[in-house]
Amino acid sequence: MNYRIALLRGDGIGPEIVDSACQVLDKVGQKYGHTFSYTPYLMGGCAIDATGEPLPQETVDGCLASDSVLLGAVGGPKWDTLPGHLRPEKGLLGIRAALGLYTNIRPARLYPSLAAESPLRADISAKGVDLVMFRELIGGIYFGERGRTDDGKTAYDTEKYSAFEIERIAHAAFRSARLRRKKVTSIDKANVLESSRLWRETVHKVAQDYPDVVCEDMLVDNAAMQLVKNPAQFDVIVTSNIFGDILSDEASQVTGSIGLLPSASIGDSTRGLFEPIHGSAPDIAGTGKANPIATILSAAMMLRYSFSLEEEARCIEQAVDGVLEAGYRTGDILGASKAIPLNCTEMTEKILERI
Ligand code: NAD
Repeated sequence: MNYRIALLRGDGIGPEIVDSACQVLDKVGQKYGHTFSYTPYLMGGCAIDATGEPLPQETVDGCLASDSVLLGAVGGPKWDTLPGHLRPEKGLLGIRAALGLYTNIRPARLYPSLAAESPLRADISAKGVDLVMFRELIGGIYFGERGRTDDGKTAYDTEKYSAFEIERIAHAAFRSARLRRKKVTSIDKANVLESSRLWRETVHKVAQDYPDVVCEDMLVDNAAMQLVKNPAQFDVIVTSNIFGDILSDEASQVTGSIGLLPSASIGDSTRGLFEPIHGSAPDIAGTGKANPIATILSAAMMLRYSFSLEEEARCIEQAVDGVLEAGYRTGDILGASKAIPLNCTEMTEKILERI
């Protein structure tokens, strides 16, 4: 079968890491008898340069016509001084909303072979970290009404959630927990925020449909602490857009490297947007130092969530595990290792060989 993938290579290291992921997809395709066809579209800084806007309509239409979307990363200092509506990030928020991608899934796993890179104390990291965060992606304060008073001296943003928006992401989290260790931690600020009280109430109602899954609540301030104190306690976390944004970066760091972590954004259809959690790393763009693993693992998530190709997804994940266990490292995960760091192309080749 042929799968049509829209490629949003973006800026900085985006093009290098997306090309690595495509090579890996093609290799898996050869092994299992699938083909992938790729159509590149502009988004972010490269789109601003070429068309004057971060998310051209042609890109939205192309993504909507594809079976799934693979994204590198967008942004960089060149576009930092542009007004808000013209910033590369506007493209990201816009494409998520245009594709109706309300669930952002971010797994955070501590690889035993990289435990030394984790900033956690050894007795804490030894218990392992294997959690997946479900962050609501197209509601809450990032999409609520915002503005300034006439004198410009007061500003406001609005956190607003409907029961419908909470229900659909809660269902996604509980379904995932059923396939894992059967525990959902819902994170909110229900002691202060009314929107959080509705969040909690709604999650509890959804939980009744999943009696085999344990459901617990945690306040966001406590969660920030627990993620570094005892991350092994978490299986599936479900939370709002802004809390998920902050906590998922924290969770990613306990695993040691931002260059390893993938993400998936999905909605009601099988078409999703798959991207590494890191940014465009302008400081290393063009040097070959980019770690392609987060994007390669994002492609594996695409196989799993968009195309239901579980075996093929695992094949990629096992190849990555094998390469890391064999001691191969890019510069960002070198730590105390005495290995000679591989560049992006060399790391990709090691993974292709394993597949
Ligand atoms: P960043 O994630 O790009 O970089 C942070 C640090 O991690 C840098 O030192 C970088 O070299 C390193 N790093 C990141 N990915 C790496 C990889 N794959 N391999 C090796 N090292 C890696 O974050 P930043 O510096 O805060 O942001 C840079 C630009 O990226 C900004 O313009 C920001 O707006 C944008 N950004 C985009 C996204 C996205 O497209 N989803 C997400 C975050 C930041």
